[in-house]
Amino acid sequence: MEQEIINVSEIFGEYVFNDSVMQQRLPKKVYQKLQETLAEGGELDLETADVIAHEMKEWAIEKGATHFTHWFQPLTGVTAEKHDSFITAPKSSGKVLMSFSGKELIKGEPDASSFPSGGLRATFEARGYTAWDPTSNAFVRKDAAGATLIIPTAFCSYTGEALDKKTPLLRSMEAINKESLRLLKLFGNESSKKVTPSVGIEQEYFLIDREKYLQRKDLVYTGRTLMGAMPPKGQEMDDHYFGAIRERVAAFMKDVNVELWKLGVSAKTQHNEVAPAQHELAPIYEEANVAVDHNQITMEMLKKVAYRHGLQCLLHEKPFNGVNGSGKHDNWSLVTDDGCNLLEPGKTPHENTQFLLVLACILAAVDDHADLLRESASDVGNEYRLGGNEAPPCVISVYLGEQLEEIIEQLLETGEATHSLKGHHLNTGVANLPNFRKDATDRNRTSPFAFTGNKFEFRMVGSQDSVSSPNVVLNTIVAEAFSNACDALEGSKDFEADAQKYICELISKHQRIIFNGNGYSKEWEEEAAKRGLPNITNMVDAIESLTTDKAIKLFEKFGVYTKAELLSREEVEYEAYAKEMNVEAKTMIDIVSKQIIPAVINYTSVLANSINAVKAACGADVSVQTELLCESSDLLADVQAGLSALKMAVEEGKKMEPGKAQAVFYRDSVKKALDDLRIPIDKLEMIVDKELWPMPSYGDLIFEV
Ligand code: ADP
Ligand code: MG
Repeated sequence: MEQEIINVSEIFGEYVFNDSVMQQRLPKKVYQKLQETLAEGGELDLETADVIAHEMKEWAIEKGATHFTHWFQPLTGVTAEKHDSFITAPKSSGKVLMSFSGKELIKGEPDASSFPSGGLRATFEARGYTAWDPTSNAFVRKDAAGATLIIPTAFCSYTGEALDKKTPLLRSMEAINKESLRLLKLFGNESSKKVTPSVGIEQEYFLIDREKYLQRKDLVYTGRTLMGAMPPKGQEMDDHYFGAIRERVAAFMKDVNVELWKLGVSAKTQHNEVAPAQHELAPIYEEANVAVDHNQITMEMLKKVAYRHGLQCLLHEKPFNGVNGSGKHDNWSLVTDDGCNLLEPGKTPHENTQFLLVLACILAAVDDHADLLRESASDVGNEYRLGGNEAPPCVISVYLGEQLEEIIEQLLETGEATHSLKGHHLNTGVANLPNFRKDATDRNRTSPFAFTGNKFEFRMVGSQDSVSSPNVVLNTIVAEAFSNACDALEGSKDFEADAQKYICELISKHQRIIFNGNGYSKEWEEEAAKRGLPNITNMVDAIESLTTDKAIKLFEKFGVYTKAELLSREEVEYEAYAKEMNVEAKTMIDIVSKQIIPAVINYTSVLANSINAVKAACGADVSVQTELLCESSDLLADVQAGLSALKMAVEEGKKMEPGKAQAVFYRDSVKKALDDLRIPIDKLEMIVDKELWPMPSYGDLIFEV
């Protein structure tokens, strides 16, 4: 097949109102004013905003846009938008003008009463505002709705409380910026003006055939399969991981890349993942808030392009029991405006006091707030994945690798570190292959929080979740640790010695958080318990971490969340858990009543008829039919009993007030009933004639894409 040539540098950012477009189109003064505001924070005056809005509109119209929308990220975890066209009221001539004012750019006012607010906003105070986030570029999106100018915004209530996932992230970025600059000053750095958390997000997903997807009401309504027997082959052959990408999938990936590049998302890596039909996409890292926005765009694009290819992209953390689920690795580092990464150990980390202080602070932060980190990676789907030998356990620990581990040991033993392990040359034993230097440190795939060269990789996050919360937590807890270090060291007379001492103290106090072994093992769970590390095994138990005194103090100190905002998030999460479990339960009831039970009755009738027919015709042996009939009828009775139990649990759950007690009930009773009901169904799937089974099997779904 003749391939079209894709000129990446030409299409990259084609639909983004980015810096170079602004430089080109905005009057110099306006451009400068915007840059100043971006650098220093603060508000943009309306006059400047008017000029920017006008140019933005002209540019968008050239790209075909008829509408604009403020694009925001409410607490649902997905994005929201409300489109307005650029047209103004028709003049007497009957013609319309296309207009877009600074006011419309800066502020929007969607009726916010239907977004979760956790009590922050009574329904009678439905006002919510969206506010332009100039740090994340506006862009034009083309789809069936035509072309729309999309303006990234924050979303808050009439009284200024954050109702979204962007506002706290921006606040946390300010906090870590401020405290990082303080820390750099300790080391005499006066030149860096800004420190930004850099984030690179690896996105895992499944891709299945859309026709088959539509035949699975569980996938349609809940994003995961609620039943399904294992196919003869799962992922045990390890032949999918990094395997050759199938044509149909490759064509999909190509289109996803092109669409993302046009929107300025630097899609970089793609490969097949461990489970059949599972894949991964990773962009190049960028500023945290832009990375979070781009991840939302990526998730939307994966779904949209899949649809075009007759495929369905599943972003759920655990679409199929028994094969690996999907996560989202959050790679995080701190980079100065003059290009220095605070997490870069350099060639001789033992001499790099600044790096060691940063590292010690991060260890302290993660140890002090392991519960918050765990909470930040909680969503309902992720509960089916964490701790399942495919994803990090629920215990937070830090993997440092051999080189840093060895330096930590030196510090703990003697109070100073005198040498660093070096990477050696790797000899492949084949003359024609180049020998290359290998890293001083190997990787550990089982750690929830791993140092990987010059960044930390938080691997707990769920595949469909927003990565905002994990980064809010990371930024804030590290800001606190930096702030404590600065408080302790700012007045020091003998900085080198005091810093060394401080580093050793932190490390010795928090060394329990370091673990370099196999995080999936049972022994680690026991060892972690001995060390007193929290093991929060489920989302419902994790939620209260948001509102401990410790958490409130932390977030209020750095202006990231008020107490009211934390309480609201706690409420929203309990409710989200109960609601999602309720949908799963109702979907199960629907499928079992209308599809599974009728199918099994059908099958047993066929068997019964066969028995009668054989008996009437010749009296031959009908033991096989009889055995199958007995077995399937018994299982059918189990299904009926399980269905009644689930119905009862749902009825009871529905009567409860939203809140913790209800979430606990859904976890302990509804989820349990759901899991129990699945067991006889999966057994029946292995017995009943495939022609009579009412939906595609796991094998059909994941092996026949
Ligand atoms: P893997 O973890 O699969 O080996 P990579 O190391 O290539 O993958 O990187 C994974 C992600 O981490 C990518 O999105 C990459 O851009 C990002 N990344 C690389 N360096 C940094 C850094 N210093 N800070 C934040 N993210 C980074
Ligand atoms: Mg990774």
